[in-house]
Amino acid sequence: MISFSLQIRWGGGIIRCVMARINEHFLKLQAGYLFPEIGRRVAAFAAAHPEQAGQIIRCGIGDVTEPLPPVAIGAMHKAVDDQAARETFHGYGPEQGYDWLREAIAQVSYRDRGVEVLPDEIYVSDGAKCDTGNIVDIFARGENVIAVPDPVYPVYVDTNVMAGNTGKAQADGAYEGLLYLPCTPENGFVPEPPKEHADLVYLCFPNNPTGAVATREQLQAWVDYALANDAILLYDGAYEAFITEPGIPSSIFCIPGARRCAIEFRSFSKQGGFTGVRCGYIVIPHELRAKDADGNDVAVEKLWSRRHTTKFNGASYIVQRGAAALFTPEGLQQTQALIDHYLGNAKLLSEACRSVGLRVWGGTNAPYVWVQTPDGMGSWDFFDKMLGEAHVVITPGAGFGAHGEGFFRISAFNSRENVVEVCRRITELLG
Ligand SMILES: *Cc1c(COP(=O)(O)O)cnc(C)c1O
Repeated sequence: MISFSLQIRWGGGIIRCVMARINEHFLKLQAGYLFPEIGRRVAAFAAAHPEQAGQIIRCGIGDVTEPLPPVAIGAMHKAVDDQAARETFHGYGPEQGYDWLREAIAQVSYRDRGVEVLPDEIYVSDGAKCDTGNIVDIFARGENVIAVPDPVYPVYVDTNVMAGNTGKAQADGAYEGLLYLPCTPENGFVPEPPKEHADLVYLCFPNNPTGAVATREQLQAWVDYALANDAILLYDGAYEAFITEPGIPSSIFCIPGARRCAIEFRSFSKQGGFTGVRCGYIVIPHELRAKDADGNDVAVEKLWSRRHTTKFNGASYIVQRGAAALFTPEGLQQTQALIDHYLGNAKLLSEACRSVGLRVWGGTNAPYVWVQTPDGMGSWDFFDKMLGEAHVVITPGAGFGAHGEGFFRISAFNSRENVVEVCRRITELLG
């Protein structure tokens, strides 16, 4: 009798049919994650037009193209040698990251700029994509109102779909149950806090895909909203290093009150060219609290620390040595040179698009230029036109959300030579 009732529970009531069951929330995901769909279209074009395949220039996916800063290369070479001798060998390190890296981050990225962040509030990882995706683990499933900008970095949405925090996708690609924050030319692609209550709010500045930045006043409004709603801001600062405009906050923790309502994600990917090396981190202030089912306050860091140390065994020693080198004076200089290169590209791309009469945003505090399609064209139609006629791969705005329809993103991550050629083709095609 006992085994009978257990089987009912384990099998979800279907006693005859015991089998491995999937997480059905995955089936709600839209057919193509954006970049595979782009890859599919580019491959199909190249197969159909082999003579033009060699001319294709990719300004689609946000991946860096230039070699790493020499200080990072030097530090990683040395770290490899450390692994060759018993005296300097490193096995498992602390899951949260080595103290020397956490201290360098806290000092150079935060305290030197007057922002209060302690080394033990920093958790080093193998990238911000994992962190922004994994954070859903520590919040109740299906119990929180989750707000996401639209257009948006797809990871925030898809990971909530996988976790069962949404309903089904609708015809325009939006999921039931999420609170979308429209980003439009009218609000400069910086959403205002909504009238509705939300518990978790994803924000990303400088923004991928629009390149928008939020002012101190705009971020203060979000912090005030979060404090009033007992909400947590999930603030993605992966592009912080690209901010050039004076007065734009480099961190959500520049804003008074943010330590009680925000988590920040950072990455060495775009800043130090580490997309293929893999290193990022998350900042969770000691005072950040969320509620359990009985309404008691629980320190968010406790849950994240437990999750991180259970499911992650630390970023590679070699990689962390490379990341730490970026905080030396030469490292900072070399990183800045890399960023200046990409921002120079963004400026050229913005100018080329403006010169043919297109409306352009972003590109000054971010490596992305966000452009309205000509003549109200759909963004996938414009993608096909750019691929077919100019052999340039852009990213269709609709792939980032319903409000991205009618826009496209050009990535400035490229060689100067390629960018100059892309500008030439844009003026030729649309001029
Ligand atoms: C590139 C990017 C990241 C960083 O991803 P990594 O996993 O650290 O390479 C995070 N957020 C956004 C919005 C990005 O575009």
